[in-house]
Amino acid sequence: MAKRRKYSEDYLNIGFTTVLANNAVEKPECVLCDVVLSVESIKPSKLKRHLETKHLEHAEKDLEFFKRHELQSLEKKFQRYFPELTGEEEALVRHPFSATLDVSSIPDEVQDEFLDLLNDFGA
Ligand SMILES: [Zn+2]
Repeated sequence: MAKRRKYSEDYLNIGFTTVLANNAVEKPECVLCDVVLSVESIKPSKLKRHLETKHLEHAEKDLEFFKRHELQSLEKKFQRYFPELTGEEEALVRHPFSATLDVSSIPDEVQDEFLDLLNDFGA
């Protein structure tokens, strides 16, 4: 688990996170433009090339910059996947790291990802 996290931070350093495609293959996704690249592109040199050609102005940004963009991108996804959220769920999307959060109120399918995020950003 810790290994995987380090692995994904290496990608985030150059503006990428990974998404699971339908066939459970991890693909790189740009946190700046939400483009999903092919699984063959999941090499730091290729991802870096995307960053430098598409987002040259952000090429030298630090990890914190990309983390913020990853969170924004995540929030957009929540809104896309759960457009009808109300009450507590909506509060969760708007303030995903609130201390008063009740994890059991999150839809099952996003709980794992969410807990991972809490581990990454919460403490
Ligand atoms: Zn991009």
